[in-house]
Amino acid sequence: MALIVQKFGGTSVANAERIKNVAGRVARTRSEGNNLIVVVSAMGEMTDELVDLAHQITDAPDEREYDMLLSTGEQISVALLAMALHTLGQEAISFTGAQVGIRTDGWHTKARIVSIETERIQKELNAGRIAIVCGFQGVDSEFNITTLGRGGSDTSAVALAAAFSADLCEIYTDVDGVYTADPRIVPEARKLPMISYDELLEMASLGAQVMQPRAVEFGKKYGVPMRIRSSFNDDPGTLVTKEVASMEKVVVSGVSLNEKEAKITLVGVPDKPGVAAQIFEKIGSANVVVDMIIQNVSENGLSDISFTVPRDDVKRAIGVCEKIRADLGAKQIRADEKVAKVSAVGVGMRGHSGVAAKMFKALADEGVNIEMISTSEIKISCVVGADRGRDALRAIHKAFDLDKAAAMIEG
Ligand code: ADP
Ligand code: ASP
Ligand code: MG
Repeated sequence: MALIVQKFGGTSVANAERIKNVAGRVARTRSEGNNLIVVVSAMGEMTDELVDLAHQITDAPDEREYDMLLSTGEQISVALLAMALHTLGQEAISFTGAQVGIRTDGWHTKARIVSIETERIQKELNAGRIAIVCGFQGVDSEFNITTLGRGGSDTSAVALAAAFSADLCEIYTDVDGVYTADPRIVPEARKLPMISYDELLEMASLGAQVMQPRAVEFGKKYGVPMRIRSSFNDDPGTLVTKEVASMEKVVVSGVSLNEKEAKITLVGVPDKPGVAAQIFEKIGSANVVVDMIIQNVSENGLSDISFTVPRDDVKRAIGVCEKIRADLGAKQIRADEKVAKVSAVGVGMRGHSGVAAKMFKALADEGVNIEMISTSEIKISCVVGADRGRDALRAIHKAFDLDKAAAMIEG
């Protein structure tokens, strides 16, 4: 008997009718002779509504209480799904993260899973029941409820699939699979029949919301076979797998846009050994994750250091920079909250030259100015003005012929 983990995102369980639809799908998989762990997100926009509610009370909610609040959305969905399965004659039982021993570190709002106890779920599976688990949540060593960061139900699902050595982890969402670009921004985007863990990890980390990056990391680390597909049809979706040779034939598999970046520049810092270490050590200790870094040519023993951070963290980063400026005697801090990052991703880049030039030409032809560039083995990213991010994404998508069927490899 195979074990399948199925995860249903917010849109898939947005109302009672859709929960019944999900129950029908789960029941069908069960009647095909599979054991099932089902992970569910909060209904529709509920998590956003809870965030909004917290901010109606205070601008700076206590993070423990914030997690306590946000985690409630998932508890509603699991109970309703269990009831819907009961009406179909299925044996199903719902659980919070704490009840099934999803242990995390204590970093509220962005906690990481450290371990999962398997006994309770295993007992239910052995008894022939479908185990339904709240996504997005766990408990720390003191039993405080933690959440795994927005989109964290993906990670709950893949981590459970890894802990139980599941045969398959299906991520059900509101699109048919992973596309060459976000289909909401690029209507010509095409569905990829398959994608490697590394490519999906890059695309997700660079802004493609379709999966939480940490979920893909788990999948890769434990070799979890994953399929991303729609809960509204029977399209097989996109298979996420280890890299296979045929993938290298496609230079660029997809493009991503991150519209939530900010750029900070420390102007006139002393150009001497140890300065960068000092700056980024302090920013890192404030839990701000720095993305791109550029140091400009030095003049009169001074240089400018620019870097990008998530826009949500910009105030915290500026606070740290104020202190650094005083310590180092830097001249000024500049912050630009209106930047976006556009990226092209593909394992095929390794074997091809001229990919960066083609991307820069596409941006030039579109009249988009590049503010920063960074590259790795399988990606090229450019920071551009936020108001041109979407144009930039569409231009690059077109330049690499991603709208054409010939660019696809059939899995
Ligand atoms: P869920 O609530 O099911 O977790 P999300 O809203 O988190 O769903 O993710 C699905 C959304 O991700 C899609 O509606 C789509 O707009 C967006 N998305 C961004 N980039 C991509 C991509 N490359 N392929 C598919 N979907 C993408
Ligand atoms: N409900 C949470 C969120 O909206 C977790 C998830 O949907 O994955 O971020
Ligand atoms: Mg999601």
